[in-house]
Amino acid sequence: NVLKLLKDVWQPAKARAEQDAGVLQEMMRAEGVNGDLEKWDWRYYAEKRRAAEFDLDEAQLKSYFQLDQMIAAAFDCANRLFGLSFEEVKLPLYHSDCRAWEVRRDGAHVALFIGDYFARGSKRSGAWCSAMRAQAKFPKAQAPIVINVCNFAKSDPALLSYDDARTLFHEFGHALHQMLSNVTYEMISGTAVPRDFVELPSQLYEHWLDVPEVLAKFATHAETGAAMPQDLLEKGLAAATYDMGFQTVEYVSSA
Ligand SMILES: [Zn+2]
Repeated sequence: NVLKLLKDVWQPAKARAEQDAGVLQEMMRAEGVNGDLEKWDWRYYAEKRRAAEFDLDEAQLKSYFQLDQMIAAAFDCANRLFGLSFEEVKLPLYHSDCRAWEVRRDGAHVALFIGDYFARGSKRSGAWCSAMRAQAKFPKAQAPIVINVCNFAKSDPALLSYDDARTLFHEFGHALHQMLSNVTYEMISGTAVPRDFVELPSQLYEHWLDVPEVLAKFATHAETGAAMPQDLLEKGLAAATYDMGFQTVEYVSSA
């Protein structure tokens, strides 16, 4: 049950946070601060530690996150998990930046997926997923038409930050939720589910980006095509789960 899950998560998260607290306390001592680590010190020292420990060069990392490769990675995971295939189709869409793919399973049409990934002046900020047409069987069968809208910087080739790539996977998780919908009535189709469930498929899907096999295959250098070096990959993954003890304690205590 829910209470048991929260309790199971609580102990290791708290242990991790306490361990992190020790490290931050040491940093304070090294700076000649004699007091104990207080609540308001946490974020300041956590950021300092992130900079010192991970020493991640965002620009260096970016060369490995090509938009096209990350789209291919999201599609590949969906193929392996759900047997979906994606074939790009040329359609007259509302903007020349938009791309469309026909989504099939066992040869049968499942959905049309549209990606509108680049920032432009007329777009509101952020990233989202909408169904232009939601799946339903009644009064007549209709396949979903789903769109992901993002605000990535346009360049050639388009390169993403790690956060951008995670956003792409997150929104694609929502898109899968829409595309794999299999209900009778449009009213309960796709992401038309209770509030506390709607972010589950998207948040789960984000984690596929962190799977080393996925990064090894798709996070290739924009110029050389080489896979991400092992140490950069490890550093990137460590940075991605950095301060998780604190974050987990924070959201479990608010549940
Ligand atoms: Zn979301």
